[in-house]
Amino acid sequence: MAQLLLGDIKADVVKKNIKNLHLRVTPPTGKVMISAPLRMKLETIRGFALSKLGWIKKQQARFRNQVIELPKEFLDSECHYFGGKQYFLKVEEINKVPRVNLNDSTIELRVRPNTSSKKREQLVDDWYRAKLKEILPNLFAKWESKMGVKVAEFGIKKMKTKWGTCNIRARRIWINLELAKRPAECLEYVVVHEVAHLLERGHGPRFKALMDKHLPNWRLLKQELNQHPIIHPNWN
Ligand SMILES: [Zn+2]
Repeated sequence: MAQLLLGDIKADVVKKNIKNLHLRVTPPTGKVMISAPLRMKLETIRGFALSKLGWIKKQQARFRNQVIELPKEFLDSECHYFGGKQYFLKVEEINKVPRVNLNDSTIELRVRPNTSSKKREQLVDDWYRAKLKEILPNLFAKWESKMGVKVAEFGIKKMKTKWGTCNIRARRIWINLELAKRPAECLEYVVVHEVAHLLERGHGPRFKALMDKHLPNWRLLKQELNQHPIIHPNWN
């Protein structure tokens, strides 16, 4: 591995058996990584990287502005999200059946004394899951009928890097549990996106045309989602 200095920015260069140069800026620190063909000269790589300096700086600034979410402990007064809205957690420790309840400005979490934060998280996640299970059937029915396709099965799971997935052959769609925290329109965007994959596999012009037709503001919703990427410190 070699290292290049582009002004005050360091870049790691790895030579591989590939045809083209790849440059990426990686989260969370904005580290610059370059993969280059085995025979390419370091000067050529440097020239290319310098031509991309503006783009590199823009990407790094994006990472710097990202709010790094602190691990949640599910303690009283902690801030949590549901449907894009912020709520304070109101924890009641009492020897009764645990439950989660939504109020105007709080999410009430009733737990038995000495319940671990892991267990509290599980209770809240189960509640998020139940909420999505209330919302999703109608949402899928709406878009199946609008787009003229049939989904065989859908489910909810925690995913680290994807908002949703679609197994086209099985016609099975997974929705990220994290979306329970996001605005309803963003959840709907992901549903439409995944259902659209039943009509078009890739993300090319045909896919974009489908999205434009059915959900004209999808680009905005996508942007809104990805402004706050899935960075979930409690998951590993
Ligand atoms: Zn997709």
